[in-house]
Amino acid sequence: EPFNIAIDGPAGAGKSTIARLVAERLGFIYVDTGAMYRAVTWKVLQLNLPSEQMEQIGHTAEMMQIELKRGNAGQQVFVDGADVTNEIRLPAVTNLVSHVASIGRVRELLVHKQQQMATSKGVVMDGRDIGTHVLPDAEVKIFLTASVRERAERRFRELTQSHPELKLETLEADIARRDKLDQEREISPLVRAEDAVLLDSTSMGINEVVDSILQICRN
Ligand code: C5P
Repeated sequence: EPFNIAIDGPAGAGKSTIARLVAERLGFIYVDTGAMYRAVTWKVLQLNLPSEQMEQIGHTAEMMQIELKRGNAGQQVFVDGADVTNEIRLPAVTNLVSHVASIGRVRELLVHKQQQMATSKGVVMDGRDIGTHVLPDAEVKIFLTASVRERAERRFRELTQSHPELKLETLEADIARRDKLDQEREISPLVRAEDAVLLDSTSMGINEVVDSILQICRN
């Protein structure tokens, strides 16, 4: 019988890698909700909208079309038909996304879309508020975390090939700043749902984390 899995946690905890693998193992659909907030942020930058124009940003989110498709190399993201999969990972987007994600209208629209994606069950959804707000009835809830240093080191290893100029300290500061914004925002802040299982992956390998989640699903 199909069920839903909510995976929440701070930036760089490995949520997307883990969620994708868990979905693969179960034959479930993977939904990366962070990519949707990034897509709106990409559009805001594209339109050169001033970040304090909250109402305009909300309106933009309302008018744009966001599609998530399954590609060979993971999930692909399209905005109004254009493939933005790579562009939504650029630093300009990362720097602004937590601000855009704090806007009530933006959250309302995306949460609604996410809930629709999960109605037929068999979904692994990762984000910040999935277990608390988007899918409060998800059968399995995981709160995946790791120390700030470990998360920064993982990002560093991921990015150092393509961006050799990046410094570990910069990444660590960046992650800490985003954690703070996500935890302290008024609407659906990043917190562990009471019924979520806490998984600290600081000294765990990817397969170990995936296996523990699959084990939790069996119970
Ligand atoms: O998961 P990712 O790091 O790509 O998410 C980017 C940002 O989007 C987060 O830092 C957070 O501000 C926002 N977000 C959110 N709620 C979600 C997923 C992401 O507020 N469910």
